[in-house]
Amino acid sequence: TLKFISHLTLISIVVLRVRPFLDEELTGGKKGKQQCIQFYNDNQSLSMIRPNQDVRNFKFDCVLDQESDQILAYDQIAYPVVQDVLNGFNGVVMAYGQTGSGKTHTIFGSRASLDHLYTMKGQGDLHEESGIVPRCVTHLFDYIKINPNKAQFRVTMSFLEIYNEQITDLLLQTNNGSTSPGGNNQGSNSHTRNSSTSPIRGGGSSTSIGNSASQGQNLKIREDQNTGIYVDGLTQVNVKSKDQLYQLIKIGAKLLQIFVEQRWIETGQESGLLKDDRNASPQKTSRQQFKKRHHKKALLTIVDLAGSERLSKTGSEGLRLQEAKNINKSIAALSNCISALASETKNTFVPFRDSKLTRLLTHSLGGNCKTTICACISPSLIHYDESFSTLLFAARAMSV
Ligand code: ADP
Ligand code: MG
Repeated sequence: TLKFISHLTLISIVVLRVRPFLDEELTGGKKGKQQCIQFYNDNQSLSMIRPNQDVRNFKFDCVLDQESDQILAYDQIAYPVVQDVLNGFNGVVMAYGQTGSGKTHTIFGSRASLDHLYTMKGQGDLHEESGIVPRCVTHLFDYIKINPNKAQFRVTMSFLEIYNEQITDLLLQTNNGSTSPGGNNQGSNSHTRNSSTSPIRGGGSSTSIGNSASQGQNLKIREDQNTGIYVDGLTQVNVKSKDQLYQLIKIGAKLLQIFVEQRWIETGQESGLLKDDRNASPQKTSRQQFKKRHHKKALLTIVDLAGSERLSKTGSEGLRLQEAKNINKSIAALSNCISALASETKNTFVPFRDSKLTRLLTHSLGGNCKTTICACISPSLIHYDESFSTLLFAARAMSV
């Protein structure tokens, strides 16, 4: 869908994915194995059904049911975004939903599928359970291999995590730590630290929020007139092959950044009369040589969001509660920004600065960028309330 908001063009796709029942739900009594979702043949509509309550209907750009495989999910959620990145437009893919709803499965794939990519060391193909990130990598590098424009490509990536409103550079941990796989060190010359001259906007990024503890780096977000908003000091690795990228996905486990830049010179002959041929020799008047320089760069941001469940459910207290509040802050801020962007009123203030996540996504959410949100839910009646609030969020995103 193509939609316009007051200031800039925002293209957004909202996909809803319902994961299969988990064993714990099937063995969790009558309510656990009862399905509260009804699908329709148009692959866009669904209803939420709960005993003694009105049926609630929703419609999205695409609904993926329990049978949907990772290929279909990629085609609906990420394929158009990556195509745009190759055409020089920024893109964002985000997974939203409560913990256990299938966000990480959708974004990265199953544990086994990541292990598969890692052990095959480039000899094998994607695993059937490979998620969006490895499929994006394959998509990008397959394109680079064909390279229709004979362009020079530069692909860089970085991994970052926002946890408790602190930004951690996951590649920095990898470089210094012992988790780096033998024989696959890229060498320090291929690592550059981000500075005001090499902004995060120059690269693609996959951002994971939550889960592991911050290592106390707390990198700062900066803004520069020319380069926009970027994370100061963030490591960017030059990537030459998809295999190298696969290894980094494995190491970082939850987070990744990819940057695609292409330059090429188009040469050829243009037929037609020269407008001003006073200086041209007679044989050049009908055919003209041309040389056109092309330069495209785009940022791909992939976000595996923290669980959207409400604070009350986690039952945290003290320090843990503050942490939970801060994790929730990103999600709440994202939700508020989406509401503001979806608002009918022109010039509604969009509170991008309310969290690190929304600050980093400012230009992506408000700019000319293709953004896909994949809302993930469980089919079980047990999770009705959380699923319903996820659907409300997704419905709001539909009107951006
Ligand atoms: P989240 O990241 O939202 O917390 P996960 O991606 O870890 O959730 O998924 C929770 C569980 O459900 C995992 O065991 C995962 O393997 C399983 N799962 C999620 N989505 C699917 C799917 N589409 N097909 C099969 N299993 C899935
Ligand atoms: Mg997860």
